[in-house]
Amino acid sequence: MNELINQFLAGQSLLLLCYLIGSVTFIIGLKMLSHPETARKGNLVAAAGMTIAIVGTIFLYRDENLSRLHNYLWIFAGLAIGGFVGTLVAKKVQMTAMPEMVSMFNGMGGACAMLISVVEYHHLKEVSGGELVIIMLGMIIGTVSFAGSMIAWGKLAGSIKDKTIPGAQFINFALFAGILLLAILLICGFSESHLMFYAVLTMAAAYGVLFVMPIGGADMPVVISLLNSFTGVAAAFGGFLYSNPVMLTGGILVGSAGTILTILMCKAMNRSLKNVLLGSFGGAKHVASGTAQTSGGSYKEISLNDTATLMAYANKVIIIPGYGLAVAQAQHTTHELEKVLEEKGVEVLYGIHPVAGRMPGHMNVLLAEADVPYEKLLELEDANDQMAGTSVVLILGANDVVNPAAKEDPGSPIFGMPILEVEKADHVIVNKRSMKPGYAGIENPLFFRPKTSMLFGDAKKVLQQLVTELKGM
Ligand code: NDP
Repeated sequence: MNELINQFLAGQSLLLLCYLIGSVTFIIGLKMLSHPETARKGNLVAAAGMTIAIVGTIFLYRDENLSRLHNYLWIFAGLAIGGFVGTLVAKKVQMTAMPEMVSMFNGMGGACAMLISVVEYHHLKEVSGGELVIIMLGMIIGTVSFAGSMIAWGKLAGSIKDKTIPGAQFINFALFAGILLLAILLICGFSESHLMFYAVLTMAAAYGVLFVMPIGGADMPVVISLLNSFTGVAAAFGGFLYSNPVMLTGGILVGSAGTILTILMCKAMNRSLKNVLLGSFGGAKHVASGTAQTSGGSYKEISLNDTATLMAYANKVIIIPGYGLAVAQAQHTTHELEKVLEEKGVEVLYGIHPVAGRMPGHMNVLLAEADVPYEKLLELEDANDQMAGTSVVLILGANDVVNPAAKEDPGSPIFGMPILEVEKADHVIVNKRSMKPGYAGIENPLFFRPKTSMLFGDAKKVLQQLVTELKGM
């Protein structure tokens, strides 16, 4: 017997050590993710820690009767199928579809938390009390995150349009109240009905769908980071349930990182969270994607040759990358343009808007991939400070983040969002393929301003031609 107890203690200490390594590597990995130069390694460090925690759980875990996990076929089959599908999807995904994939993966995290709660609900000996509180919270938050992330995934992929649902605010309030009421009835033991448990789950799924559906246009970054924090919190409840320290640490880290990101995204949009969530219910402040109004204003075009000349004789050029740069995969050519200009004595900097692209940090990742020096990337305020005295601002596939309506038009859905104030520079050149609007679906008056010239075409092709022109000068 003593022998058995010693074995148990030795196994548990080793398992705890695995969990400690897992938790520490998550923290180190997260820290490394905060800089493009170390981000790739940070991801690997955290993944290695996760592998140690998973392998430790599979082989070292013993329950109170000293029994090991026995359902290895299920575990390894699940790991193999999940690993295969995940690797395939991650390898095949286009860089422009990354935001959708991140949303999908986030939804899968929420679904896991929901399923853990469902399984453990059926394992409960006493269908009330403390353990049920954790199960219910994990299930509700996980389900909202799963359903909401699926809608966000559809929106980012362009297959789901922003929809104003009549009475959505009221329906959501009723759903929220219903979820709360039924959960309290179950937790306090007034009912032991499984049906009621599944009614809460269904209502949480409906809430997730309805809460994300009307939010659209430029507010999506806030929703995405909020759903991310929900998944973290739901996973942390799973950690509580299993008294599993690594799950708890991981969940708390994702939850708190997501919350910080939500606050930062709200700041970037100059909107309060309440305003984003409630303001959109009823959709009064939003214009559905793709419904551009036309001002009938006239714009002027610039030729490649004139653009090259203007840039070659500039003292300073600020490049503003946007979603179109990611679509065109023009990050490497942009870096080439930067080098050619610098050889001609032109200072080149980049102005990065926090919500440019389709996911937080999108432009930083894109430009880091092309080895653009990190010091050249200016945050919004610093970029705006540098605009005056800059000869040329070159906008590459950006639209909403340079839209002056955010400052000038109180009726605009993006009014109040800080923008890159490109008009402080001497010349503004906008590269895009047409006069179509960006993600928020609204017209950009910048394109019709006297300082602005349009350089139409796919960003990569235009940049390649621009580099050739500049080299020949
Ligand atoms: P926008 O979506 O406003 O505009 C992108 C522009 O790129 C379009 O107007 C498009 O015009 C142009 N474009 C597309 N393909 C190409 C191409 N191949 N070559 C050249 N241009 C191209 O992008 P921004 O980065 O300015 O703004 C981001 C928007 O996305 C904001 O509204 C933000 O709120 C939202 N968002 C951001 C998220 C985030 O976390 N960062 C998440 C979800 C939404 P054309 O078709 O004429 O070429």
